[in-house]
Amino acid sequence: MRITAAYEGVVPISSAIRNAWIDFTSMDCSVLALVSDVIRDGKPVVGYGFNSNGRYSAGEILRRRILPRLLDASPGSLLDESGSLDPARAWQLMMRNEKPGGHGERSVAVGVVDMALFDLAAKIAGQPLYRYLSDRYGDGDPDESVFVYAAGGYYAPGKGLRDLQDEMRGFLDQGYRVVKMKIGGAPLAEDLQRIEAVLQVLGGDGSRLAVDVNGRFDLPTALEYGRAIEPYGLFWYEEVGDPLDYRLNATLAEHYRGPLATGENLFSLPDTRNLIRYGGLRPDRDVIQVDPALSYGLVEYLRIQDMLREHGWSSRRCIPHGGHQFSLHIAAALKLGGNESYPGEFQPTGGFADDAVVRDSAVRLSDEPGIGLEGKQAFYEVLRQLHA
Ligand code: MG
Repeated sequence: MRITAAYEGVVPISSAIRNAWIDFTSMDCSVLALVSDVIRDGKPVVGYGFNSNGRYSAGEILRRRILPRLLDASPGSLLDESGSLDPARAWQLMMRNEKPGGHGERSVAVGVVDMALFDLAAKIAGQPLYRYLSDRYGDGDPDESVFVYAAGGYYAPGKGLRDLQDEMRGFLDQGYRVVKMKIGGAPLAEDLQRIEAVLQVLGGDGSRLAVDVNGRFDLPTALEYGRAIEPYGLFWYEEVGDPLDYRLNATLAEHYRGPLATGENLFSLPDTRNLIRYGGLRPDRDVIQVDPALSYGLVEYLRIQDMLREHGWSSRRCIPHGGHQFSLHIAAALKLGGNESYPGEFQPTGGFADDAVVRDSAVRLSDEPGIGLEGKQAFYEVLRQLHA
């Protein structure tokens, strides 16, 4: 098996929404098709990847460094002993001549290719990705469904409390029990009004509401908000300070008794290990949100899982950021705690298969070979055009 061509492109995933740090009016996303010389039903098997959301496209790094290394490699160097495509070997080739540290855009570029390689490998094996992964990296008995929560509650021009409540009601109508909203982009008093408006929709049950600061607060503000929201008993208080400010996180964990969640802007094993070493997170309640697609792909995410296990953490404490199908398969195969979901946002790349049904905040996986992006019609059309 060899990779005969790589087609890379960019799609806009823009929208008018805003969190405490950024708006998404110019958000875009790298997409990739890796064409193999394996023929099924008269056509070459193609693996697809993209870079989740929240970080911009990484085409320059893909074109200048990562993809040439992959395509220039001798075909045998991408294969394991049995002659099958091995994304872990491909990963070593892609990262040749890259110094450690400085993760960010590079981890996004490698993550796009890693996703396409796993899609390709699972398709060649004739398995849906969660089965492929469970057989090779899990216990062979994947979860049949995955917990998902609806992430929304963004700030948007002209969006009032009534609109926010309608949005949350819409999530409940779609089968979600747990919802998330943004905070930290308005004064505390206004955010508390927004939280209480959403709690009304949830019958006053704070354990079904997560709030997300997107890294905006300094320590005094983190503690002030923490004191104000602790009585609600929220599902979690997310990414409260700068993602790399481990001491802030540790101090907050000493004061805020409810669950904390963070990690969507940590892009490597060393960064995540530092969070575990120095971030004061509590393995009995807190949640790690590293997004495999943004952080060097699943090959690195497997290393992160090993590290977490060594530190006494259950894989169930991981609920990746991103709301995409790649992490949905990973969550089922590695028995994570769940996966994020953004109903209706970040189209065409975001979300699950068109026929995926959310019931009681859980979704089942499709049995299409690979990730199953072919089951997401509008996105598949974009991917197919890459190599048409
Ligand atoms: Mg977040």
